[in-house]
Amino acid sequence: MERGKKLLVAAVLLLVIAGTAVFLGKKFGTGGPKRPDWILEEPLEKIDNTTMEIIMLPRRKWENLGQQYEMYKNPHTGKYAMVPVMVCGSCGEKIPSVPQPKLKPGEGLGEYRGRWIESMQNYKCPKCGKSAYTSLPPSSQTLFKPETK
Ligand SMILES: [Zn+2]
Repeated sequence: MERGKKLLVAAVLLLVIAGTAVFLGKKFGTGGPKRPDWILEEPLEKIDNTTMEIIMLPRRKWENLGQQYEMYKNPHTGKYAMVPVMVCGSCGEKIPSVPQPKLKPGEGLGEYRGRWIESMQNYKCPKCGKSAYTSLPPSSQTLFKPETK
């Protein structure tokens, strides 16, 4: 089991690193080369973080609808509430993913990742009310309880 936990930790860290790269890419990468069509045609599933409505549209359509504060517009309600989907680790339902924190001015990347992991640890599933991220890197408490067989 120890090995499994290590792998999970590695997977979550990779996710965080990848997310950071995407974030930094978005921040500094505007005005770069034109993206190929297959990227724009890629279907993206988003969930409304107020109504829980799930909508699948190509990236191009989402971008045409427009976004605000990292949220895309819901074509049915006209509100900016569409966020990436995640699967709750407790109930297995599709739910809005935890919002990615903004990098604060002067904040180190390690500090930023720590803050992000903390927000994941505190994130409760809107459908079942339990922790949506059931596998996370070690924290000071709660995680890594002794195995109960
Ligand atoms: Zn849940």
